[in-house]
Amino acid sequence: MGGILSGLPPETLSVVYLVSGVLFILGLRKLTHPRTAERGNVISAAGMALAVGVTVLWFEILSPFVLAAALLVGGAVGTWLALSVETTDMPQLVGAFNGFGGGASALVAGAELVDQVGTVGPSELSATVSGAAAVTGLIGAVTFCGSLVAAGKLHGIYEDPIHYPAQNGVKVGVAGVAVLVGIVLVTQSSLGVVSMGPLVEPYWALLAVASILGVLFVIPIGGADMPVVIALLNAFSGLAAAATGFVLNNSVLIIAGTLVGASGFILTTIMCDSMNRSLTDVLFRAYGGPGAGGDGADDVYEGNVVSTSPEEVAMLLETARRVVIVPGYGMAVGQAQHAVAELAQLLDEDGVEVVFGIHPVAGRMPGHMNVLLAEANVPYEQMRELSDINPAFSRTDLVLVTGANDVVNPTAYSGEPSPIAGMPVLNVWEAETVVVNKRSLSPGYAGIPNPLFAMDNALMLFGDAREEIQALVNEYKGSR
Ligand code: NDP
Repeated sequence: MGGILSGLPPETLSVVYLVSGVLFILGLRKLTHPRTAERGNVISAAGMALAVGVTVLWFEILSPFVLAAALLVGGAVGTWLALSVETTDMPQLVGAFNGFGGGASALVAGAELVDQVGTVGPSELSATVSGAAAVTGLIGAVTFCGSLVAAGKLHGIYEDPIHYPAQNGVKVGVAGVAVLVGIVLVTQSSLGVVSMGPLVEPYWALLAVASILGVLFVIPIGGADMPVVIALLNAFSGLAAAATGFVLNNSVLIIAGTLVGASGFILTTIMCDSMNRSLTDVLFRAYGGPGAGGDGADDVYEGNVVSTSPEEVAMLLETARRVVIVPGYGMAVGQAQHAVAELAQLLDEDGVEVVFGIHPVAGRMPGHMNVLLAEANVPYEQMRELSDINPAFSRTDLVLVTGANDVVNPTAYSGEPSPIAGMPVLNVWEAETVVVNKRSLSPGYAGIPNPLFAMDNALMLFGDAREEIQALVNEYKGSR
């Protein structure tokens, strides 16, 4: 069936898809820097709008009524989510979106398979289509179920890793079954020995096995390894979309999916490096998680915790020349980024050298802290990565840690088994004074106590991040 544009020369569609692909690449390029990221988003969205628009008008995929209804419902749900979801819940929303991408790819590939088998018959179906459909079904279903489990963990529904007997053997076994079902799907179609029913059935069997695989892969992973899993599932959602592009013979889907897949794998590598974990370790040697590992909190703190007040910290800031602010998940929970940005600005105006030390896994999603600080107009030049800031702590007068815990936990270097063992952390304790703002001595995401809180040069500023930092801003202003 053709849409209203289908009368144009066939090359037109390829050219428009190519333009969309170029817009995606330009948008992605601009997303690499916070200053240009907003423009990058608009450029990529324009590329997607162009690709969707031309596809809808070229092929008469659905009746205009059904299409308009689908766009309306999807648009309304998207707008509602964007307006109602709290910033702190964004990571699980992004995780769920990855899953929906994978699930959608698997369903689209399945629908196309049914359609093509119905049109040409199984014997005529090309191995490219059935092979690509098998890859889409496998990756898409793993992504869908794995992402929902990951989103549930991030939402705190059940944070502890779930271990089961011979888990690695079980995972490899189930993956083997999924590959076998995929092979059955491809060989049946090329041999043409079966009718439509049995050909299509292996596809749904593949989805079922791959869904189980997705769940089995993610449930044992806990604690500090979640950032890697999120990045990996993001890459998978791109791969599933690219494979669907081969099923549909749609170049723009192949380009967009490959870009998402490649950038997701690059992010996965960066996350693995920043946590000193290999991907094999994350997927097959998962251990720890909330509540696991480390000494009991009482042994670690031993009554050595010293608390402070905004007045006292303001006095320390008056004499400081070099200050580093380290934000963490609690800054997002308390929505303290504007107060933190105001404090940094005041210090900067007073000639204090002030920068932000940002750990790559701080918060609950890659880039979480950068996004919040950019929203509060913190200049990009003030944000320092782990490798840049760590050598500077020994020359720093005061570090203000706000809502961070695991990313400043020296236990990572202790050599003892723990969920964050070996992860490079921000060496804040090397500064002259460390002020840690959090509400209590509760552990962070990895569930282990933090000896930093009991160190001689550490002071605890107990309380909600926004309230305490705002009180600190007011005290500091009053003392200028
Ligand atoms: P943590 O989760 O280690 O610690 C956050 C701390 O914030 C808590 O100890 C909590 O203590 C405090 N807090 C919570 N609410 C508030 C508030 N309103 N005001 C002040 N403090 C508050 O955070 P980090 O950023 O240090 O580390 C991130 C962790 O999350 C790492 O383990 C990382 O692996 C994991 N992770 C990261 C992902 C990513 O992609 N970045 C994805 C998934 C997991 P208290 O309750 O006492 O206030």
